[in-house]
Amino acid sequence: MTAFYYRCRMTHPETLRARIPVFPELEFCRSGVGLVPNPKENDPGMALCVSLSVVLDEEFGACSCAAFRRKKTCRHVRRLGELVSEFSKAAGGRSWQEIFAASLWRRLGEALAEGNGQSCSTVRVCRSESGHPAATAFLCSRGELLAKWNGAADILLRFLERIGKAPRSIAASDRATLIHKLGLVLRTPEERYFNETGVKSRAQAFEESFYGRLAYHCFREYGDREIGFHPAIDLQSGEFTLKGLSQENEPVLQLVVPRRQVKAVLNLLGKEFPSQEDLTIHPVPLRSIFKISSTTQLDLEVRPVVEALQASGESRFYEEKDLARFRYGDLVYVQELGVLAQLERSGAERKFRAPVSMRLERSQIPGFVEEHRAEIEAGELVLEEPLRQIKVLKDYDYMEIVPLAIKRSWYWLSIRYGFGNQEVSLGEILKARRQGQAYLETAAGWIDLNTPAFQALAMLADDERDLAKDGERIRLSSVDLLRLAATNRRPLEVRGQRAAILRRLLDLQPVEPYRAPSGLATPLRRYQELGVDWLKFLYENGLAGLLCDEMGLGKTHQAMALMLWLRERAKEPCLVVCPTTVISHWREKIRVHAPGLKAAVYHGLQRDLPSALNEADVLLTSYGVLRNDIDRLCKVPMAVALFDEIQNLKNRETLSYQAACAIEARMKLGLTGTPVENSLEDLKSLFDLILPGYLAEDPGRAHPADSQPGLQASELDNLRRVIFPFVLRRSKEAVLEELPEKIEDVRTCALSEDQIKLYRDTLSSKGAPLLAQLASGAERLPYIHIFAVLNYLKMICDHPALLLNKVEEYQKYESGKWDLFQELLFESLDSGQKVVVFSQYLGMIDMMQRLLNELGIGFAALTGSTRDRGEVIRRFNQDQDCRVFLGSLKAGGTGIDLVAGSVVLHYDRWWNAAREEQATDRVHRIGQRRAVQVFKLITEGTLEEKISAIIERKRHLMNTVVREDDPHFSKIFSREELAGLLQPL
Ligand SMILES: [Zn+2]
Repeated sequence: MTAFYYRCRMTHPETLRARIPVFPELEFCRSGVGLVPNPKENDPGMALCVSLSVVLDEEFGACSCAAFRRKKTCRHVRRLGELVSEFSKAAGGRSWQEIFAASLWRRLGEALAEGNGQSCSTVRVCRSESGHPAATAFLCSRGELLAKWNGAADILLRFLERIGKAPRSIAASDRATLIHKLGLVLRTPEERYFNETGVKSRAQAFEESFYGRLAYHCFREYGDREIGFHPAIDLQSGEFTLKGLSQENEPVLQLVVPRRQVKAVLNLLGKEFPSQEDLTIHPVPLRSIFKISSTTQLDLEVRPVVEALQASGESRFYEEKDLARFRYGDLVYVQELGVLAQLERSGAERKFRAPVSMRLERSQIPGFVEEHRAEIEAGELVLEEPLRQIKVLKDYDYMEIVPLAIKRSWYWLSIRYGFGNQEVSLGEILKARRQGQAYLETAAGWIDLNTPAFQALAMLADDERDLAKDGERIRLSSVDLLRLAATNRRPLEVRGQRAAILRRLLDLQPVEPYRAPSGLATPLRRYQELGVDWLKFLYENGLAGLLCDEMGLGKTHQAMALMLWLRERAKEPCLVVCPTTVISHWREKIRVHAPGLKAAVYHGLQRDLPSALNEADVLLTSYGVLRNDIDRLCKVPMAVALFDEIQNLKNRETLSYQAACAIEARMKLGLTGTPVENSLEDLKSLFDLILPGYLAEDPGRAHPADSQPGLQASELDNLRRVIFPFVLRRSKEAVLEELPEKIEDVRTCALSEDQIKLYRDTLSSKGAPLLAQLASGAERLPYIHIFAVLNYLKMICDHPALLLNKVEEYQKYESGKWDLFQELLFESLDSGQKVVVFSQYLGMIDMMQRLLNELGIGFAALTGSTRDRGEVIRRFNQDQDCRVFLGSLKAGGTGIDLVAGSVVLHYDRWWNAAREEQATDRVHRIGQRRAVQVFKLITEGTLEEKISAIIERKRHLMNTVVREDDPHFSKIFSREELAGLLQPL
C-alpha cells in the first residue's frame, strides 16, 4: 500500500484520561458485565451480572456452572464480584457504560459504522498478502477492506474472540457469546418486540457491527489515550484510512474510513486533537464548475471540473473524473496541493443539464457563451485560454466601401466592416448568412450575424452572380446600396478612385447642383431648389420617390422645375395624374409659373392621345382616365410619371393602383402632403408602386392601423431609416423663415338656453338608447345612427336654426357660437384683414351669407354647387371690397389659393384634422405675406370639446409614420369615446 501521509505530526491528546487496566477476564455490554469462562476448568461457568449497581451484590449474579445451579452461588460469581469491585475502583466509581459512552472510540466507532454497518458475523478475516508479518486484514462480505491489525498478538486474539472469529485451534474463550448473552439479557422491552419481528434496534446494530465491536475492543485494550490517529490516502485506490499508532509510533491498526464519513471522522478527531494539523480540513475553496476547451479544430468540449483557488489567488482546475478517486463526500483530496479541501456549495455543482460533459460544434460556442454569460462571469463556467478570447461582436465599428466599377445603376464594390483592427468583407458575411450560420468566426471575434446591424442584408437579392469568386467584390444595385447605407449607423468611409461618384450617390446628390431651368417664371425658394436636386438625383440613378412636403410648400413648383429640367434631357414626355378637380389648377400653375412647359390636358370625352402627345411635354390627366385608358397609356414610355395626391392610390386592389403600376416610366414620383396616411400597409403599397420590392414583405401587416402604436419604436426607427432616401418631407416649421407665420387659436363659447334644451331633448330621445347599446357590449354597433345623433348635436352647437331647418328665421334663435363668430369676424374686418370662414354645413354658409348681405359686407362663397370656382376665388383674392370668403369644407378645402385672407375661421370642427389643415393651408401658403391667424370655434361642455380632444390625440397617433389621418368613423373612435360623446351635459 502506497500511503501518502501529509504533514504528519504526532501529538498526544492534551487531556489524558486515567488508564483503566484491561481486565481480560471481563466482558461488558450495556450495564452488564460477565466473566469470561475458562474452558479448561472442570466445571466452567459463564457468570453474568446485569445489575445497574456498581457494587456487585451476589444476589444479582448468575452463572451457567453446575455449582451455581445447586447453591445459587459459585466461584465464578464470586470472582466476577471481586473483579467488578476492582474495576469500579479503577474507574473511580463510574460505570463501564458511562465511561464507554463518553469515549472517543465509541464516537469514532459510531461514525465508521454509520458509513459501513457490516456486522461482526459476516466479516471475513484474512492474513494480508503483504506488509507486516502479523498483519491481519478484515474484509467486508464484498471483499472491501475494513481494517488491518498490526498490533500485539494477544490483543489481536482477544479481538478475534470478541468478534467470534478466533480459529478454534487458538480460541481460549468464547467472548463473543458472552457479550451476545449480556446483550440479550439487557434488551429493552421494545427491543424484544423488535427482535421478535426480525428487526434490530439502532443500538443493537451498532453493538453487533464490526466497527462497533472494534471500538469496544480498542477502548478496552488501549483506552482513549494510547493510540494516535493519522489520516492517509492510498494513491492507487483513493481509499481514505486512519492509521492508529502506538505511543512508540508502532502501527497498531489501520481503519478504512467510508468515503462519506471522512468529513465526520476528521471533524471528530480534529476536535479531539486540535493541534494535529493532518486532521484538519484545509480551507482551500474548491468549486465545481464547467470548463470549455477545444478538442479539435471543430469541436469543443464542455466538461465538469473542480477549481481550486489557492491562497495566492491562482486558480487550478482538476478534472472531476480524476478527482473522483479522491472525492469523499464534499471533500476532495487535491494531490498536487497535498491538501484535503472542501467543495463550495456541495451538491449544487450540476449546473448544466449534461451530467458529465458535452460536445459542442465550434459554431455553437458563441451562442453557448452568450447564453451562459452569467455563469462565465460568476466563474462557474471557465473557458480555456484560447477560447477565453471569444468575443461576440454585435456591431461593427465602421463600414468601408471602395467602388471598383460603376455601371449606371449597378456598382461593383468592395465593402468591408471594421471590427477593432480586423476587417471582414460583406461577401464573407453574406456567405455565412446564406449558409445559415448564426456566427462568423474571425480573428476579431465571433460576429453575430443576426443582430440589427446586419438586418438589411436579408433584403439583398440572393444572386450568386453578385458575389465575385474571391468573396471580396460584390455587385449591388443603387437601391440596395442606398438601403445598406441608410441602415448603417456607424461611420461610413468611401475610398478609392471613384469615391466621389459613390459619395454623391450616398449623399443623395445629383451630378450637378441646381440651376434654374429655362422656362421657369417664378424663382424657387432655397428649400425647393434642394427638393429639385433630390428629384434630379432620383432620376439620374433610376430611382423613385415620394415628395411629401407639407401643404403650401410648393410641391407643384418643384415638380414643374424637374419637368423643365427633363425637357432638355429626355425624349419622353412627362405624365401628371391628379384628381379631376385639380387638373385645371395644374394647367394654370404651369401656365403661370412654368411657361416653358407645354402641357396638354388628356381628359374629357374628346380626349385624343396622339394629338395630346404631339403638342405637349406634359400630359395632364385624371385617375379616372388613367384607369380607363391604361391600355393606351401604358404603351407610351414616360420620363416621369407623377402621381399628385398619391394617397389616392394606397389601395392596391383598385384598378387605379394597378394602372399606375402598369405605366412605363423611368421614374415614378408621388406627391402628397399626406404621404402614408394611417398605416404601414399604405406605405408598403406606395413603395411597391414607385419602387417595387424595396420594402421588406409585410413591414407592418401584422399591425393594422389601430394597433400601430404597438409597433416597436426601434422598428419604426428602422423603417424611417430605410425609406429616408426616397421620401422627402419638409414641414412649414422647418422652412419657417421662408414662410409667413401661422397662429392657431381655439376659441370657446357657451350654449344658449335654446341650444341647451335642444341638446338635452336630442340626447334623451335619441342618444339614450344608443348609450345603452354601447354599454351592453353588443358586437355590431349602429354606427349610422350614432353618427346621425352626433351630427344633430353638432348642428345644435352651431345654431338651433340649423337643426330645425329654419335658416331664414335664424334671428329668432340664440346661439353662443354664432355670437362669438360675429365678434371675431367684425374684429378681424375692423383691423383691415380679409377673413376666410369654413363650415361643414351648407346651412351655416347660407346663414352667414344672409348676415353679410344684411350688413352689406362684400363676400364670396364657394360650395359644391358653385359654377365658376375660378371667378369666386379670383374675386376674393383681387377685389378690395370682397372681404369675406365663405366655403364649405368639402368644396373650399382643397385645390385653391386664398392667400388674400389672413384670418381663417373654422366655424365647426371636422372629424378629420387633416381636412381642416388642408383648408387652413388655402390661406397659409406660398404667396401669403402676412401672419395667418387661425380660429377654431368650440362650444364648452359639449361633444365638440371631446371631439377636439380626440382629434388632437388621434392626430398624434396618425402622424407616427408620416402624419395624417383616415376619417373612417368606426376606426377612429373607440366604444368608450363614442359613449363619452353621447354623455348628457
Ligand atoms: Zn459458576
